[in-house]
Amino acid sequence: MSTLTERLESLGLPPLPDPLAAPIADSHTHLDTVAEMVGLTPEESLEAAARVGVARIVQVGCDVEGSRFAEELARTHEGVVAAVAIHPNDAARLAADSPAALAEAIDEVDRLAGAGPHVRAVGETGIDLYRTRDQEGRRVQREAFAAHIAIAKAHGLTLAIHDRDGHDDILDVLDAEGWPDRVIMHCFSGGADLARRCLEHDAWLSFAGVVTFNSAAPQREALAVTPHERILVETDAPFLTPAPRRGKSNGPYLVAHTARFIAERLGIDEQDCCRMLDVNTSAAYGGGWGLADGGEER
Ligand SMILES: [Zn+2]
Ligand SMILES: [Zn+2]
Repeated sequence: MSTLTERLESLGLPPLPDPLAAPIADSHTHLDTVAEMVGLTPEESLEAAARVGVARIVQVGCDVEGSRFAEELARTHEGVVAAVAIHPNDAARLAADSPAALAEAIDEVDRLAGAGPHVRAVGETGIDLYRTRDQEGRRVQREAFAAHIAIAKAHGLTLAIHDRDGHDDILDVLDAEGWPDRVIMHCFSGGADLARRCLEHDAWLSFAGVVTFNSAAPQREALAVTPHERILVETDAPFLTPAPRRGKSNGPYLVAHTARFIAERLGIDEQDCCRMLDVNTSAAYGGGWGLADGGEER
């Protein structure tokens, strides 16, 4: 039986960073995709995360199967909550096969959204015009996004938004449908302007490893204009591995690098930054989750 360190090395994953000064959450991750693409099991991902002080994670679904997995993982693991949705690219693909199939999938999201307090968010939903380029796909994404907004409101859940080249459509649909009480812009991909437009509605901006990339000056400008209480951190693992490990696969334990980067950019010490991020994650996902926020245990 190999140690976790050996296991990470054998899968080509980066080593464990030094433990953080205080516990934080990875506010958006995909342990099922990490297992499929990298080979690290969800249990191993959680163990690696816990070792470096990433005590909680939000497991995010992108299709029916992934949303069911998220619900189950959160139901059976302390420190895990779920987000459920049909990803905009999956919505476009499903509708292209059969509009009825998309409607059924969204019904299942609605059912899972009501599964209990371990399901905290509807997401990731939104607009992706990078991978879906045709007008019909765009129309389907806007409709599916509106349906997810309605589900989030009906269940009093947080809305976790995926936005890839979709800023205007996202704001347009949110304005038309009305913003839910809690909105997270996951893997925030805009600059200071978009940040301000989202902050007007008290959204949280969640920064992934991208913010550490040399090319990400706009995201760093967004970070600079975001009030500290609106900042979240995430991996979106297995993608978007932060510097200095860029180019390797990602896991929730590597969110430690992004958290340290954020602390440095904000000019605050690591412990204060971790506490801030942890409190923010609890607020963004409805509070009362886990121990660090003083909320009741679920
Ligand atoms: Zn996404
Ligand atoms: Zn994601």
